[in-house]
Amino acid sequence: MRRPIHKKYSLFFVPVLLSMNLIGAQDAYQRNSSADIQGYIFNLSLNDSTDQINGEAEITVNFKDKADAFTLDLIAKSDTFGMEITHIFESDKTANYSFENSKITITPASDSTKLRTFTIGYRGIPERGLVIDTTKFGQRSFFGDNWPNLARHWLPSVDHPYDKASIEFRITAPEHYDVVATGEKIEESYFGNGLKLTTYKEPAPVAMKVVTIGVTQFASRLLDEVYDIPVTAWVYPENRLDGFADYSVASEVLKYFIDNIGPYSYAKLANMQAKTQWGGLENAGTISYFENSVTGKNEVEGLIAHEIAHQWFGNSATENDWNHVWLSEGFATYFAILYQESVYGDKKRKEELELDRKQIFEYYGKNPSPIIDLSITDPMKVLSVNSYQKASWVLNMLRHKLGDGVFWDGIRTYYKRFQNANVMTADFKKVMEEVSGTNLKAFFEQWLYTKGYPEIKWDWSYRKGQLAITIEQRQKHHIFQFPLEVGVITNGKMETKTLQIEEISKTFEIPVTDRPDALILDPESWLLFEVKK
Ligand SMILES: [Zn+2]
Repeated sequence: MRRPIHKKYSLFFVPVLLSMNLIGAQDAYQRNSSADIQGYIFNLSLNDSTDQINGEAEITVNFKDKADAFTLDLIAKSDTFGMEITHIFESDKTANYSFENSKITITPASDSTKLRTFTIGYRGIPERGLVIDTTKFGQRSFFGDNWPNLARHWLPSVDHPYDKASIEFRITAPEHYDVVATGEKIEESYFGNGLKLTTYKEPAPVAMKVVTIGVTQFASRLLDEVYDIPVTAWVYPENRLDGFADYSVASEVLKYFIDNIGPYSYAKLANMQAKTQWGGLENAGTISYFENSVTGKNEVEGLIAHEIAHQWFGNSATENDWNHVWLSEGFATYFAILYQESVYGDKKRKEELELDRKQIFEYYGKNPSPIIDLSITDPMKVLSVNSYQKASWVLNMLRHKLGDGVFWDGIRTYYKRFQNANVMTADFKKVMEEVSGTNLKAFFEQWLYTKGYPEIKWDWSYRKGQLAITIEQRQKHHIFQFPLEVGVITNGKMETKTLQIEEISKTFEIPVTDRPDALILDPESWLLFEVKK
């Protein structure tokens, strides 16, 4: 997702350099040992007189090896908010379960490992996750806003991206509402009592962080079909024409990513104006954009590109662990830049990266930590300039290191291998090494597991046909290894030389014909570094 514009970063400080042997470490979430959720069907009843929801979740579980007890997340009722459970069945019999500390623990009736279905009845008022409020135009609205782990406020589930499952929403609501949700609409039935049932079904496995519904009065329109995928806009009726216009670029973006990365994973691509705590939230196939994203001035193309890029990275190839969220946010940030580069040229890439570079410097001054920071235990805190802008810069450097052809081959292979699955950084590294035939250990270690970037003091001189360039790394904690391009400008023309930097300080001697007028480090924005006096 895109962070809201005014979000404050949390401060954290990691004084110790983390080493590669922690690569397999997992975040703090307690995973089920044998239960693997295959599918959820959420029956939800919404009404106009209260904010209480009535729910029944049908959960299909595949037990690997043996049928151990398993847990689901659901925030329990306390005072006003939270959920109480009315019943839990295993098939049609009451299940053996406990509900403590917002964890449901179910012990299966037998040890056999076949697929089983559990049904959980529940009700209550969600404090978060499902935002029940009014739109900026005063219409009552219900919007899912789960990222990172707020699904548990309204949907009993394994509320962690490691266990993805197919999703079906069966929503019963007063018939004056328009209902959109994750998946393809497969039913809309009026009961004649003022209520309407709307059902959406997504067969692809989805993480709970990107499952959503939108229920309010919408204007909706089919914007386009891209390779049979319907691209739609769902906006407030008051914003109808401006919203359709602003979101129409989604079809161009979708086509670019399908053509360059691989097949899209979901039933549709809906673009929804929504109440969300984020600027945009990449819900699978049903993206939420902040209410004021609609202006009629086409001001959110970059945001739309970011959220659509997530459909491949984060949603379909999903980080298996919160500490590897750069595989979602860094990719979405860089692939939004790649899309914009394809439309507006390389100048746009450089502009975006230079803006991001400034943010990286500022952030590093306050938070000297690596992109993969295994000391973070709160999923909200994995979002930072590190996992967005710096990780995007890392992909830019990887692209330059491998060359465009190999980089894109690697990206396509990575997606093909991990579509609808889970990934860790090591998986991505392995694919890129295989495809490029290059050992990337040092590259990944210094850019993802090491804090900071090269802080360079430099100087040059010319004497008798020799250009001497001295490069000194000023940061103390790590000596980075990288190619540094130097633009040598002579008689108004620039020639680029590449210096291979591997030491703390070195003077490079380059024969030249004339005294250069000026030198520019990294003229094409391929290296994350800072010039230090
Ligand atoms: Zn994002």
